[in-house]
Amino acid sequence: MPFDPVYDRVAQVIPPMEWATMQDDVRAIQALKRDRRAVILAHNYQTPEIFHGVADIMGDSLALAREAEKSNADVILVAGVHFMAETAKLMNPTKTVLIPDTRAGCSLAESITPADIALLRAAHPGVPVIAYVNTSAAVKAASDICCTSGNAKRVVESLDVPKVIMLPDEYLAQNIARETEVKIIAWAGHCEVHERFTAAEIRALRQSHPGVVILAHPECPPEVVAEADFSGSTAVMADYVSTNQPPRVALITECSMSDNISLLNPNIEFVRPCNLCPHMKRITLKNIRAALETMQTEVVIDPAHFAPARRAVERMLAVR
Ligand code: SF4
Repeated sequence: MPFDPVYDRVAQVIPPMEWATMQDDVRAIQALKRDRRAVILAHNYQTPEIFHGVADIMGDSLALAREAEKSNADVILVAGVHFMAETAKLMNPTKTVLIPDTRAGCSLAESITPADIALLRAAHPGVPVIAYVNTSAAVKAASDICCTSGNAKRVVESLDVPKVIMLPDEYLAQNIARETEVKIIAWAGHCEVHERFTAAEIRALRQSHPGVVILAHPECPPEVVAEADFSGSTAVMADYVSTNQPPRVALITECSMSDNISLLNPNIEFVRPCNLCPHMKRITLKNIRAALETMQTEVVIDPAHFAPARRAVERMLAVR
């Protein structure tokens, strides 16, 4: 195969035969991005041909929200799930924000509604509501401030109150509660990818792979996080790996994360006890190409939710 600088970036994880089926879409997407003055924001859980092949900005939810706000492109295509595209629109409302498949949802976002928040507020008068960014714009609008897994503890403590409601991820709330004096009232939402990991699985992994450094996402159950060496958001995990260069590492999170990070850290052995997110995997090269060709589907936010949802995200971004 003639030298292809894009393939060179992903050759370790995509066989040449498979790349041959992707090349045409990659080239078409690069050309469409120029024609449309578009940028592609890709979450860390996107597959390598998207993450390393066509994305302009890669990162966790927090990084993508910040980058969406700064973007001067005409079109922002979000290679991620629907709440991420909504957040991009909230942060940069004059841009056309596209999502290639509107069915790319999230079990956390689907676990709670504004009516649930009204009930929680009635049960806990005066207690502020922190909404994980993995929520709909309507739920963000019903909340006081947002958080991500990367800044949840800072957001909780920034409010300077003895008690908060943190929703919808029960495990994230429980994991943060172990790190702060603030009392946290949780909701029973779970990430269908991270809830499947078990403490027994982590112990077995340690036995079968001596010396492995185990990093767990805080959406995992607390007993899984307790078995890990370190816990953090996908951005924090990536930073930990590139800074510390452990010889052998296991990322207890979605499958594509290890593929993407391994390409940037060729000297590290990645053990891969991963789980796939079916929602993230709805985004493909084919539907990214189609989205840029047809300019569909554009993300629209109910005007009634827009200002309060944006305020909740802005309050989060102001927390350092
Ligand atoms: S990995 Fe979990 S939190 Fe992330 S989009 Fe998938 S279901 Fe939602």
